Amino acid sequence: MPAFAGGTRPPVTPKAASDHVRKPLVLAHGECENSDMELPSAEICFRALQSRDSRFDGLIFVGVTSTGIYCRPICPARTPKFQHCNFFGSAAAAQDAGFRPCLRCRPETAPDLASWRGTSNTVSRALALIAEGALAGEGSSVEKLAERLGVGERQLRRLFLKHLGASPISVAQTRRVLFAKQLIHETQMPMTEVAMAAGFGSLRRFNETFLNLFHRPPSALRRTNSKKLKEKDVQLRLRYRPPYDWDCMLAFLQARAVPGVEMVNGGRYFRTVEVDGAIGSIEVSHLIHQQSLGVKIRFPDVRLLPAIVARVRCLFDLGADIETIDRHLSADPMLAPLVARRPGLRAPGGWDGFEIAVRAVLGQQISVAAARGLAGQLVAVHSRSVPKSFRMHPDLSQVFPTAKRLASASSIGLRIPMARLRTLKAIAEAAISDSNLFRPFGNIEQTVARLQTIPGIGEWTAQYIALRAVRDMDAFPSTDIGLLRGVASINADPPSAAKLLNRAESWRPWRAYAAQHLWAADGSAICKPTTPAALVG
Ligand SMILES: [Zn+2]
Repeated sequence: MPAFAGGTRPPVTPKAASDHVRKPLVLAHGECENSDMELPSAEICFRALQSRDSRFDGLIFVGVTSTGIYCRPICPARTPKFQHCNFFGSAAAAQDAGFRPCLRCRPETAPDLASWRGTSNTVSRALALIAEGALAGEGSSVEKLAERLGVGERQLRRLFLKHLGASPISVAQTRRVLFAKQLIHETQMPMTEVAMAAGFGSLRRFNETFLNLFHRPPSALRRTNSKKLKEKDVQLRLRYRPPYDWDCMLAFLQARAVPGVEMVNGGRYFRTVEVDGAIGSIEVSHLIHQQSLGVKIRFPDVRLLPAIVARVRCLFDLGADIETIDRHLSADPMLAPLVARRPGLRAPGGWDGFEIAVRAVLGQQISVAAARGLAGQLVAVHSRSVPKSFRMHPDLSQVFPTAKRLASASSIGLRIPMARLRTLKAIAEAAISDSNLFRPFGNIEQTVARLQTIPGIGEWTAQYIALRAVRDMDAFPSTDIGLLRGVASINADPPSAAKLLNRAESWRPWRAYAAQHLWAADGSAICKPTTPAALVG
């Protein structure tokens, strides 16, 4: 594939490109050193490549031995010969084998589906931590990461090889390179800031890595765009796997938008954000033709960009392999018409685990609108304000209070039952003492059981937190009144919660999406389109 093999440079043989990439190049066609990773056969992968099949985008990457470059299956360049193709299940695996990212199809812009591969909770949690920077910076190590996950270092490496075909270090390094490449292409950030934002310890290291990988300095990869000189905000495109039901997502967020913190306006979602004590704002829009969400970030510390992007991905459920999920749920005749009505319906996550948990408790036994009002009062009493230069909308001037702030408050100051006030305090204290409180913990039953150890958190609340904050996509609050109404609306015969739970067995491991479809069927302010279908393109 003449996919920009380095200007006039002759095709190169892929070789170890950096200190972390030491594995020999996989030469035998289709044969992966990490062969226990599940991939479609080489023939199927090749056919996907020939037809530039977007269904495989993000799921497979092809390394081309004649050029040393790896591509997405949708690369516009000429299809390479079959015998020159090596297929990988992750960008990291391709990079690990010595291939460098293509400058035309830009592997960094493929939908990020890695966390969906396999069912390993440990890998998903590890990827979330890596995305937040767990393997960046001084003193970080795979050993420490494994410790946080409660597994041995060797076991973690083995799981990574099995599910991603690459080691944790390679995954982290590939992420850094790809994120830096995205910032170079899509923003006008100065190179020193790009290096910092992507988690390179120093500009020198950043330059070395790019010289090794691309045979040119990072600045040479930037296409100059005079129109976009010096922007106030960082603007990025985050790709998803189509279809994506943006209207439902927006309606869901709009119905719950906390006054002062979030709003939906003109088909866009705005919110204030706090990460590691720093405060700023984001704006998210739908770029329907690019199958992406456009994210605008106004934030004082570029080093926290990866964490912000990871949270946006989680909030908007960008990593979902939605086609597979929709197909699975459609096998049930009860859900099939719902999925047909709303293809690409996502399960919204949350910006922050603690915030979702607080809102879940405030929402116990009251309407969505009433819960939203209470959350607004909580913000008015306890929040910090956003500095003027970091506001994106005059009405959004507060951040949602952190666990620390609520834990230390002498009074919560809401007119709600005492027991619920105590629960809010208990959640704040639990979140402070356990930084993994809102991360998956074994299977869904174990996650829910752990959350229920907090006084005042029952089954429904725990399942809801598991769904939106922990992101266990098998979470299912079967006693939810809206879910039962949703079933009744299509079935006429309203089931009991126990019957519904029974029926939901076949929806595993994606019961959260079934719940979303049932809520949408119930129509209780969750999914009424509020904007014209096509938005900012
Ligand atoms: Zn390419």
